[in-house]
Amino acid sequence: MAKHETPLLDQLESGPWPSFVSDIKQEAEARAKNEKGVEYQIPVDVCEDLLGVLELSFKHGRTHWKHGGIVGVFGYGGGVIGRYCDQPEMFPGVAHFHTMRVNQPGGKFYTTKFLRDLCNVWDMRGSGLTNMHGSTGDIILLGTTTPQLEEIFFELTHTYNTDLGGSGSNLRTPADCVGEARCEWSCYDTQDLCYNLTQEYQDELHRPAFPYKFKFKFDGCPNCCVASIARADISFIGTWRDDIPVDQEAVAAYVGGELAPNGGAHAGRDWGPFDIKKEVVDLCPTNCIQYADGKLTIDSKECTRCMHCIAVMPRALRIGNDRGLSILVGAKAPILDGAQMGSLLVPFIKVEEPYDEIKEVIENIWDWWMEEGKNRERLGELMKRQGFQRLLEACNLKPDPRMVQEPRTNPYIFWKEDEVPGGFQRDIKEFRKHHLR
Ligand code: SF4
Repeated sequence: MAKHETPLLDQLESGPWPSFVSDIKQEAEARAKNEKGVEYQIPVDVCEDLLGVLELSFKHGRTHWKHGGIVGVFGYGGGVIGRYCDQPEMFPGVAHFHTMRVNQPGGKFYTTKFLRDLCNVWDMRGSGLTNMHGSTGDIILLGTTTPQLEEIFFELTHTYNTDLGGSGSNLRTPADCVGEARCEWSCYDTQDLCYNLTQEYQDELHRPAFPYKFKFKFDGCPNCCVASIARADISFIGTWRDDIPVDQEAVAAYVGGELAPNGGAHAGRDWGPFDIKKEVVDLCPTNCIQYADGKLTIDSKECTRCMHCIAVMPRALRIGNDRGLSILVGAKAPILDGAQMGSLLVPFIKVEEPYDEIKEVIENIWDWWMEEGKNRERLGELMKRQGFQRLLEACNLKPDPRMVQEPRTNPYIFWKEDEVPGGFQRDIKEFRKHHLR
């Protein structure tokens, strides 16, 4: 018999999708039975009361969580998100319900032992509810009490050799894709760079000193499996600067139907046999692929490394051999000023330990942002407010055509008066008269 009636929440279990309500109910039941004999350090009915307070919030149309001042562990300014219930008499199990962010391992590689240990700590000292993983990438441990914070922190850091992640106005937990460990398209060792920068910037991660949050994300190739281009203030995206190697025999095998396109991902395809023109050549965003007389050729200087052709014919086309990464800056979700994708800042940089060149770019950006950024202004917003030119000056970088967002379609060029010979200026005026209003 449930402690609280939850008719509104119950509706969320009725659809075809897995429901978090069912998950919380399952955990509530497991805690009540306690078949493993866990010595619970927080109220055993925490999950029951969580369902109760959520039902009340649905009923009232407003939240019953409130901010209750700064909660954290000694020496750290982030990693714990304090949460209190404004109805503690009715729901004592969630009077405190703090979230802890834990730094996930690189590429999210776990051993089963580590996962069991983590669950054991959290069963005993928290609600048992987790979010694997939060949108930044951390392991999210949902719901514990203030006295348990130091205990959990001690166990995580001393026994399990892990650490809290970032929260607040600091460097958020850096996140990477699986990289070279499992992916043949990874252009650099994402895990090594992610780990190195995480260690290097421990201070920035744990002691909030920034105008607002700041995210690093590491993608091994332009497929962008951790979506760094859409979410990170600095995205490190693997790329190459030589040609895409082409295996013409494998191309012929795809065309002849001996190899399945897309690694066989469209096994039940109902749009007929593989058509290299329709599925590869015509879909190249820069029209730089040709297929003629049974040969596929790529004009590399026009290729934007979008990965499409490689993903369709992975046995015939591969990433190049002169590999490195591109640095993009300023992406963010729509918190204050609308969503923004990253802008290209460094087209290509080699990825070599100890990564000093990469660190120089990062630190120049931070110096500028910490000096000029307003409170709660993300890097992307500062870039919009002061202009990309100011960012280039701060980073000691020269403008490059590849930084222009749409170089093939945007004819807008700013000329200084003395740079333009008279005749040419007349041409521009004529062009404007006829083409621009
Ligand atoms: Fe074209 Fe993209 Fe292939 Fe480059 S990677 S050749 S841009 S489809």
